Amino acid sequence: MRRLSLLDTSLRDGQKSLGINLNVNEKLEISRQLVKLGVDVIEAGYPAASPVEFEAVRKIAREVKGVVICGFAGANEREIDCCAAALKEAGRSRIHTGIAVSPLYMEKKLQLTPGRVVELAVAAVKHAKKYVDEVQFYAEDAFRSDRAFLVQVLERVIEAGATVINIPDTLGYATPWECSEMISYVMNNVRNIQRAVLSVHCHNDLGMATANSLAGIKAGAGQVEGTINGIGERAGNTCLEEIIMTLYSRRGSIGIQCGAKTRELAATSRLVSRLTGVPIPAHKAIVGSNAYTGNPASLGEIGPGENAPFVIIAPDTVGLPEDDGVLQIQLGPQALQQRLDKLGYSLNKEDLDLVYQYFLHSADSKGAVYDQELRELMGEAGVEQRGILIKNISITTTGASRATATVTLDLDGDTVTEAACGTGPVDAVFKAVDLLVGERVCLEDYMLKSVGRGRETLGDATVKVRYGDNGLVIGRGVSSDVIEASARAYANALSKVKTMIRENAAQARV
Ligand SMILES: [Zn+2]
Repeated sequence: MRRLSLLDTSLRDGQKSLGINLNVNEKLEISRQLVKLGVDVIEAGYPAASPVEFEAVRKIAREVKGVVICGFAGANEREIDCCAAALKEAGRSRIHTGIAVSPLYMEKKLQLTPGRVVELAVAAVKHAKKYVDEVQFYAEDAFRSDRAFLVQVLERVIEAGATVINIPDTLGYATPWECSEMISYVMNNVRNIQRAVLSVHCHNDLGMATANSLAGIKAGAGQVEGTINGIGERAGNTCLEEIIMTLYSRRGSIGIQCGAKTRELAATSRLVSRLTGVPIPAHKAIVGSNAYTGNPASLGEIGPGENAPFVIIAPDTVGLPEDDGVLQIQLGPQALQQRLDKLGYSLNKEDLDLVYQYFLHSADSKGAVYDQELRELMGEAGVEQRGILIKNISITTTGASRATATVTLDLDGDTVTEAACGTGPVDAVFKAVDLLVGERVCLEDYMLKSVGRGRETLGDATVKVRYGDNGLVIGRGVSSDVIEASARAYANALSKVKTMIRENAAQARV
């Protein structure tokens, strides 16, 4: 079977999703899980973009081994130098540089002639090659380029030392048959293509990123680029979990394999969702909470030559338990750990203690906790560790639309209380938290849904807040009380804002 290389760009392209602000430690945690999952290359970031981004790539390069660490850089010496500096301590490193090749982009975005674009592309690859053996070149907006020109650029950059050629569908504009045709065209017309690996990088604007990538892979691409849960700007990137499970489930007919351990998919997906604050839709393929409901998993799954009519993937293949177990209140921390293990979470002692407290609190008010609720609690326990903890909330309402909230927070170790009035209980709580935390943010969106079963479910709140010019920050909170869930979500968003301010200030001093 042909071997496909997986490049995960959750931390570079994926991070461009509105509202995602991962700090350095969160990026490290995701990188370590990606190694467990078995990706071949981690694109860790764009070092020249900001000092924070540089530091993240540098740390990942230093601490995450057993995988190629890739950094992104535009086609100029300054960005390539910066990228190389960030990658210095990596075991194996790669620089990903490139330039736009479509007439529209060259003219309007770059204001350069095609001849100049070729010169810059070649110079960038040569410069990157001084630092690393593996140089990946991207031909931005390749699908709208002139084919003869594209072939010319690719031949020249391979000659200059590029070892991987990325053909991105930058705007998510291509169809699967065009992808297939494009990869075949490049393979058949670029003279020296056997000296490089072809890579596909698709976006999901038309909902075809996975289909487009697979078409490119089938036509001969040796590397696919994507993100966990498909995070990314606009409609997102190719979902790596979908690619991995398609290659696995249909291995008989596709005949291409990758090095991923499918059983790590659930844990990876949950971790990325928890740390980015971007929820996974219930119906999401492979990792959604409804993706396996009603599947009689005992019938097995489709493998080469098999024929199981009711199920194509058994949940434990992606690391999910087959039953939605119920946990009773009497459960001790050890039994909880075993259950969490089965659900794909691995926790250190401190985190387990914290989750156990949440579990007890939740089980206390409801009597029992389902797996799905446990997952939500995991998200909650994870995000609550960032410095702002809701200790107590009391509400008094007067008349139809006025409320007063008294909120007590644990703020970086101090217990503080404040009261505020609002048009309703949620508004009043948010205002009290604002007074306590003291950061000026603007609430852009607020969403509340229920998780679990029956009337005794948990409320899952998501807020989006805007802070200064730094864009949107997402916060999530879960509780059996919807007001508390909302307060936690809001406090979570403000914690992230505070972390952002702290990281930026720390960088500014260097
Ligand atoms: Zn992209």
